[in-house]
Amino acid sequence: MKQTKVDVLIIGAGPAGLAAAIELKKQGINTVRVVERENVAGGVPRHSFHPGYGVRDLKRFISGPKYANTYIKKALSAGVEINTNTTATNWISDYTLQLTSPAGLEAVSAKSIILATGARERSRSNRVVAGKRPAGIYTTGALQQATYLENLSIGSKAVVVGTEHVSFSAIITLAHAGVKCVAVITDKRKHETVPVLPRLLQLWYRFRLIKSAQIIEVLGDKTVTGIRIEIAGRQSVINCDTIVFTGDWIPDHELARKAGFEMDKKYKSPITNSDGQLAKPMIYAVGNLVLPIKAADKCAKDARKIAKVIAKKLK
Ligand SMILES: Cc1cc2nc3c(=O)[nH]c(=O)nc-3n(C[C@H](O)[C@H](O)[C@H](O)COP(=O)(O)OP(=O)(O)OC[C@H]3O[C@@H](n4cnc5c(N)ncnc54)[C@H](O)[C@@H]3O)c2cc1C
Repeated sequence: MKQTKVDVLIIGAGPAGLAAAIELKKQGINTVRVVERENVAGGVPRHSFHPGYGVRDLKRFISGPKYANTYIKKALSAGVEINTNTTATNWISDYTLQLTSPAGLEAVSAKSIILATGARERSRSNRVVAGKRPAGIYTTGALQQATYLENLSIGSKAVVVGTEHVSFSAIITLAHAGVKCVAVITDKRKHETVPVLPRLLQLWYRFRLIKSAQIIEVLGDKTVTGIRIEIAGRQSVINCDTIVFTGDWIPDHELARKAGFEMDKKYKSPITNSDGQLAKPMIYAVGNLVLPIKAADKCAKDARKIAKVIAKKLK
């Protein structure tokens, strides 16, 4: 296996990982390497086409892809090495990680390691929803990738499950894909986003907002045909060919777990001290891995602060 040494190894090239890398180079750290399992760096914003990124860190109000590109350009011009198609798969020792890429296996040792692996929405199987496994079920992230990056055909009528901020982003993506959102359902009594947003989007996209609803089962054999719900003991079926499970975040904590770091019981994220350090010296966690889900600019700003601490210690 190829053996390599760097000053700082960062896992995940989303806003948090890239912002940390840029700050480390700015502070004079020699070799900063960021690895990203996707074929393009940038993290979630890459497939989040609506505006709403960059207010606190870049002082701009831009779309996700523009935001991601700004960070990639800044990182490359600062001298950060970004390896895409490269996944950190396991720990070889405390400060050495195994990477897998089309070039093969590599063991990278670093004086400091930053985990910036992000968070994902709980999928249908994570949520244990009854019914068969028909095609046509997405999370917002998967829907956005299929729509904006892969240009795939989605369906014609959708139900969105969840009323977090991201749920309303899913409605905009569905409209972009030519899919009518017929209903947004939640088991909560109130939606979980900013006050006017659901009403405004309802006026524009004309969907039903159904609260206090339990999902009984997903209907359909090969493809989705509907969803059965129950409200106050009464069941009904909403016909649709697409279901989007939104929000309900879980940190991408597998690497942290493999290293044996203790997890927060509520958020399922690795526990850090106030400097972002995990239970081993010089190993850190940043971004949505630590607290799902924060805005991208907040993740980037917090990661820069942590990078300053790391640079000081390395010097
Ligand atoms: C639909 C949607 C809309 C949003 N809208 C907004 C908005 O308008 N404004 C805003 O500020 N924020 C928004 N957010 C939130 C924002 O995108 C996130 O807060 C931000 O992307 C978090 O950054 P991160 O670097 O922590 O994680 P991510 O962006 O998730 O990046 C983590 C990266 O790590 C990589 N990775 C994971 N594990 C490994 C591994 N083992 N090896 C290599 N690479 C790995 C992943 O592939 C990923 O690219 C939105 C999020 C979603 C899902």
